[in-house]
Amino acid sequence: MSSPAETLRVVTRVVRGQDTSDGAGVRLKRVIGSPGFDHVDPFLLLDEFKSDSSADYIAGFPDHPHRGFETVTYMLAGSMEHRDHIGNTGLLRAGSAQWMTAGHGIIHSEMPKQEHGLLWGFQLWVNLPARDKLCPPRYQDIAPEAIPEVALGDAGSARVVAGECNGVTGAVNGISVAPLYLDVTLKADATCSLSIPSSHTAFLYLYEGAARVQAPVAEDTRSLRAGELGLLGAGDGVRVTASSTAVRFLLVAGRPLREPVARYGPFVMNTREEIVQAVDDFRNGRLLA
Ligand code: MN
Repeated sequence: MSSPAETLRVVTRVVRGQDTSDGAGVRLKRVIGSPGFDHVDPFLLLDEFKSDSSADYIAGFPDHPHRGFETVTYMLAGSMEHRDHIGNTGLLRAGSAQWMTAGHGIIHSEMPKQEHGLLWGFQLWVNLPARDKLCPPRYQDIAPEAIPEVALGDAGSARVVAGECNGVTGAVNGISVAPLYLDVTLKADATCSLSIPSSHTAFLYLYEGAARVQAPVAEDTRSLRAGELGLLGAGDGVRVTASSTAVRFLLVAGRPLREPVARYGPFVMNTREEIVQAVDDFRNGRLLA
């Protein structure tokens, strides 16, 4: 069973994902990284892509660079193939996760490995602290069966991609912001309590159903529905109650870096000068370590 939280975190802001497209024309919902919600330290971007129409995804994300942060892909349905310029490849199938630390630089493509059917997943961008922005790239490809699933009493279950849930630790390790990344399923009308390190920025993103995030004072309890992010305030846990249908959500948390953010497309550094350097390195073949 989950241990009761000492101080419940309440929803301080609700952000609705915005329909947009990226890559070579992949339709997606941008939740973090839009003009109204640029970033929430240490998280720089959150996209949900979900379509059963291949026209919405088939163009994929052809070769593009990254420097200075991490990209986290988590798949619910369908498959994506990852391929980079130094020969790393990987198949991201339903239920798998890839935590990619771009560090000094990678150039890669992320392409659907299917021509029809549902493609559904998320990409989260996690910032790196200044001291790690130019670290060697690192991949953690986590197969579906390597992601532990934890029962939440009778209420439902959580897949632990990163961090800890009820004493079970996820497979991702060695990440600067000590992340928590849970994929939670709650039965209709069920309630769960989940611990979150009090030092961390945290949010819920609902991707199916609807739920209430409970507060000690009833008027602070907020409802969220699919496509909405609830940013959480201070505390060390959260209590979520599903509506009359089941609910599925991501619970994500990370230690804030409290450093300046200079971003330009696929480069995220601390200063404008470092961005200019990154663009110059990319153009002149020096992006890779
Ligand atoms: Mn990418």
